Amino acid sequence: MRIGTGYDSHRLVEGRKLVLGGVEIPHDKGLLGHSDGDALVHAIIDALLGAMGRADIGAHFPDTDLQYKGISSIRLLEHVKKLLDENGFEIANIDSTIIAESPKMAPHIPGMKKNLSAVLGTENIAVKAKSNEKMGFLGRGEGIAAMAACLIRKTGKQVVQRPVEP
Ligand code: MG
Repeated sequence: MRIGTGYDSHRLVEGRKLVLGGVEIPHDKGLLGHSDGDALVHAIIDALLGAMGRADIGAHFPDTDLQYKGISSIRLLEHVKKLLDENGFEIANIDSTIIAESPKMAPHIPGMKKNLSAVLGTENIAVKAKSNEKMGFLGRGEGIAAMAACLIRKTGKQVVQRPVEP
């Protein structure tokens, strides 16, 4: 078994959609980013990459690369699932937490879990949410953060053995 952890945060700004776990959440602000700014998916991607011993999300999907501009982070997660498959890993479980002062995440968590499960091929995904008790940048609603932990294990079915960047 191999463990990975991930953390991400994005600034909340006007004129952007709020997307977390691939779910568009009605809100007066959205997350600023080169992609759709989906901090939850980014934290999960970093956890999975870390567990595989790979470089982080920024190395895989550089924010200077125009092909990732405005991309749905779910597409990036699909790429990471492919890396897992190709290298003979399966996910044991993922646990994650969104930290946001508002809006309320609870109604949207089932949709997030459904999106994540569909890409990652496992139901063993937890998504939790909490506020930051009005403390700090998260508490002032300046941004939203997420963290994730995952366990992966070797399936013994390594599909291809090729150097995968980076
Ligand atoms: Mg990010």
